[in-house]
Amino acid sequence: MSAAFFSALSHLECSRTGAVSDADVLQGTSEAGVPLLARYDLDRVKASVKRAEIADRAPDLWRYRELLPVRDERHVVTLGEGMTPLLDLPRYGAQLGVPGLRMKDEGLIPTGSFKARGAAVGVSRAAELGVTGIAMPTNGNAGAAWAVYAARAGMRSLIAMPVDAPEITRAECVVAGAELYLVDGLIGDAGKIVAAAVRERTGYQEVSTLKEPYRLEGKKTMGYEIVEQLGWRCPDVILYPTGGGVGIIGIYKALLEMRELGWLTGDLPRLVAVQAAGCAPIVDAYERGATESVAPAKSHTVAFGITVPKALGDFLVLEAVRATEGTAIAVTDEELLAAQGDLARAEGMFICPEGAACFAAVDKLRESGWLRGDEDVVVLNTGAGLKYPETVRVDVPTLPVDGRIPAAGEPWSDSE
Ligand SMILES: *Cc1c(COP(=O)(O)O)cnc(C)c1O
Repeated sequence: MSAAFFSALSHLECSRTGAVSDADVLQGTSEAGVPLLARYDLDRVKASVKRAEIADRAPDLWRYRELLPVRDERHVVTLGEGMTPLLDLPRYGAQLGVPGLRMKDEGLIPTGSFKARGAAVGVSRAAELGVTGIAMPTNGNAGAAWAVYAARAGMRSLIAMPVDAPEITRAECVVAGAELYLVDGLIGDAGKIVAAAVRERTGYQEVSTLKEPYRLEGKKTMGYEIVEQLGWRCPDVILYPTGGGVGIIGIYKALLEMRELGWLTGDLPRLVAVQAAGCAPIVDAYERGATESVAPAKSHTVAFGITVPKALGDFLVLEAVRATEGTAIAVTDEELLAAQGDLARAEGMFICPEGAACFAAVDKLRESGWLRGDEDVVVLNTGAGLKYPETVRVDVPTLPVDGRIPAAGEPWSDSE
């Protein structure tokens, strides 16, 4: 019998060369300058944890603790993240000709975006390794999530975001005591400024997307949850709104781990990277047959969380898509905003524009025949619509105090 253990983390591995590095000292990217992947002693997990045991654990992402990097339970920093609902969409699915359509709703997680998963695990592990402050550029949601989890851990945070990032995310940073800067540019510009600042501070770790190995581990739990929630079965297709790509890389990593653990059998789901037409470097690379992306000359979309012109992990996203026989597809802002409204009217769900991009993509892929009508399809809604009030145009009458609401069917007029 093996002794009880919290994490089976064994080492870190360069995602390009496979070179091994020590997981118990603070690491950034690999020597080759690409993301490091956390590896686990999967044989040990296989020998000591049964899938059925997981079902008896608390409904948060720490239920997969053996496959997460935090070694000591006392270092877990949590706000109750994980095990978000996987919801049927009978009415909207029928409208799109995909009755087996489901949505995993990450809008219901602390901070209202799935960035909480990466922040919970990343901050916990950073605290365990002695970090006293985190620093990052962000398109808004990641900064908000890391700021609140840093506060929860008693850690400082330094955040820089584009002036155009969703305004609510500024308030989330400030209320949690973050040192926040707005940058008149894109996330890459904010990144250069943060990197320079971190070089001049002690105790701070730079936690930009995929520049440290543990955010990915938090996000991969979406993959574990989808499979567990379907009774340890894979859907046929998973669609994911792709910016830096951490979510889709993480889901793919989770699927490979579960296959090795014997927790799932059969074909992996086809993974679909969805981007906005105003910033679609991954789609462009996929269509060209390239293994890396090139930043577009201009980037703009209302789906702010996926405005990432050049992702450090682009080659890993392309690998996940190709290895699973998935695809990459772009939709316009007009299409994604229409999908956001259609879903809300059909099912009562107010989702973020990034998630809505995936539903617009389902529509297009069904139309082209790439998706069949009998397939089980899961869309990741990565955030709450509540964080993006400006995506809905509200054009309604204001009544005087003695106003009258027109009878049903009668056209409204403000002339009386
Ligand atoms: C960050 C973000 C994304 C993109 O996530 P990546 O894992 O970096 O690709 C998608 N949707 C929302 C709401 C986000 O905040």
